[in-house]
Amino acid sequence: MSRPKIIAGNWKMNCTPAETKELITSLVASERSDTEVVTIVCPPFTSLSAASELLSKSSIVLGAQNLSEHESGAYTAEISASMLVATGVKYVIIGHSERRQYYYETDSLINAKLKIAINTGLFPIFCVGETLEEREAGNSQEVVSGQLLNGVNGLSVENLKNLTVAYEPVWAIGTGKTATPEMAQDMHKFIRENMAKIEPAIANSTPILYGGSVKPDNAAGLLNQPDIDGALVGGASLSADSFMKIIEAA
Ligand code: PEP
Repeated sequence: MSRPKIIAGNWKMNCTPAETKELITSLVASERSDTEVVTIVCPPFTSLSAASELLSKSSIVLGAQNLSEHESGAYTAEISASMLVATGVKYVIIGHSERRQYYYETDSLINAKLKIAINTGLFPIFCVGETLEEREAGNSQEVVSGQLLNGVNGLSVENLKNLTVAYEPVWAIGTGKTATPEMAQDMHKFIRENMAKIEPAIANSTPILYGGSVKPDNAAGLLNQPDIDGALVGGASLSADSFMKIIEAA
């Protein structure tokens, strides 16, 4: 089963609209027309409009980093799925470890966000991953399978077809430490086996991205693994040059 290669940039809390214009202009200028890699950029909310306009003639796809679990209403400062769709957003990161850790997002909140995203026509990039303590205690698989199972609870087969999973070991995010290609492949295979238990019909077609200090010099080793279908890139997505090199390695 051939799955698309996906490289997604998570810009986190970086880039004003002016800086977004600069970065996207560089990305679009070096975009290759012969690539089959699906390239996604996820700027902060305040830069989505500027990004959307600049990407209108590009094959680079727009993503967001979060959304509300509610449809609309009195939820001060929240951003809804339909607001994202109306701004040209196609993908949305859900369950990033920074949201779980600093904003106390639970599996059930993440589940509600996945449901509203898919029901509104967005494609979620659903993040799972263990902390260093959990890995050292030998609990990585248990943690990741629990996050997966709880996250997708109640999603139909049709819903699951729109899902991309990102395995991001928390100890590798922004630390410069990355999982070896073999470690990452083992977990990706385990995630695919779990997806098969959840819904056999979609396991082979679900893209599973790796995230955690992916850089131009380690990307090829990771991206050549059979169950690694792409990367979710933080720091290295803030430079057009390094992000493009990762896309070329895919
Ligand atoms: C991320 O935040 O999703 C991430 C993988 O960050 P970094 O590449 O900087 O480790």
